[in-house]
Amino acid sequence: MKLFSCPSCSQVVFFENVLCERCSHALGYEPESNRMLALEPEEGIWVSAGRHSDGSRWKYCGNYEFGVCNWLIPGDSADTFCKACRHNLTVPDASNPANVANWQRMEIAKRRMVYTLLRLRLPLFTRDEAPEGLGFDFLAETPGEQHVMTGHDDGLITIALVEADDAEREKRRTSMGEPYRTLLGHFRHEVGHWYWDRLVRDGGALAECRAIFGNDEVDYGEALQTHYRNGPKPNWQDEYVSSYAASHAWEDFAETWSHYLHIVDSLETGHWWGVSVDPRVKDSGLLTTTIDFDVFAEAITIEDITDAWLALSAALNSFNRSMGHNDLYPFVLSETVRGKLGFIHDLVHFRLGNQRANLPQAAQGAAAGG
Ligand SMILES: [Zn+2]
Ligand SMILES: [Zn+2]
Ligand SMILES: [Zn+2]
Repeated sequence: MKLFSCPSCSQVVFFENVLCERCSHALGYEPESNRMLALEPEEGIWVSAGRHSDGSRWKYCGNYEFGVCNWLIPGDSADTFCKACRHNLTVPDASNPANVANWQRMEIAKRRMVYTLLRLRLPLFTRDEAPEGLGFDFLAETPGEQHVMTGHDDGLITIALVEADDAEREKRRTSMGEPYRTLLGHFRHEVGHWYWDRLVRDGGALAECRAIFGNDEVDYGEALQTHYRNGPKPNWQDEYVSSYAASHAWEDFAETWSHYLHIVDSLETGHWWGVSVDPRVKDSGLLTTTIDFDVFAEAITIEDITDAWLALSAALNSFNRSMGHNDLYPFVLSETVRGKLGFIHDLVHFRLGNQRANLPQAAQGAAAGG
């Protein structure tokens, strides 16, 4: 994630901020130019403020009133919702304060996920724009009714609102034997299924994908049942990024996809903070890196990414241990997994298949780099 500064007073501000603590300006994120804007209210609209302001006029996303979104829309736009929230189909009942608190946590994760998709210039379209578009249902559980399962079904991503509750999520994490379970991880995983449909199945990369991730025609329901009944495949670490990834080729793809987004976001963060890692012990040099590159640049290779991540994640794990936390990145990237990440890297940079051919017109424009 990029690091921002307040256009009015130059205080460092963060992606999630809605107010500058130093100069008290309202803040909003403008996805088109990837900037945080300082804003002043003026007759029902917000005007960009600060020394280099162009006086442009903005409105907040319709979800700003619930405290769940800080993204901006041009003041003269007919849209009500921002680039991230226009994918929402069902949102929680905002008359219940507990729902709103959970929804806020969800939206923080969702916006961060969408941010990286936009930075990667990936196609993104709603179900209004095309029937197979990306949509989110945030569903609260009502007592006595069926459990809400987080998952993906033909472009529709269902998110169980209860996962935003830390105690509940931690309970699920330990009962599933997972080293890592976060809201952001859920979003990145589920959207990976959507991109499999778009970029692999409809994008002409199916044969290349099967050669790396295996046969996706294996019965999905049976494969998951087998996984839950028999537990993780022995030695899954050699070939998969997580034990769940070993359950089916689709899950392997979604898990690897989510790791690609985790790593890219973390390296962008490292870049903006000016992070270098250079251990003060005699070592092989494997854990040395200077994150002086733009991780989204066309020339960046998967080796650039995984080499830097090896060093950065080792350092970050050490920090977590210093604070008594579990490892920040409790995963090992085997040679095979790095090959899978390389496939995803080529896929998001449109180097495989003919992915642009089958996208709706609007999304093609976005993918072309607008
Ligand atoms: Zn400020
Ligand atoms: Zn929004
Ligand atoms: Zn999945």
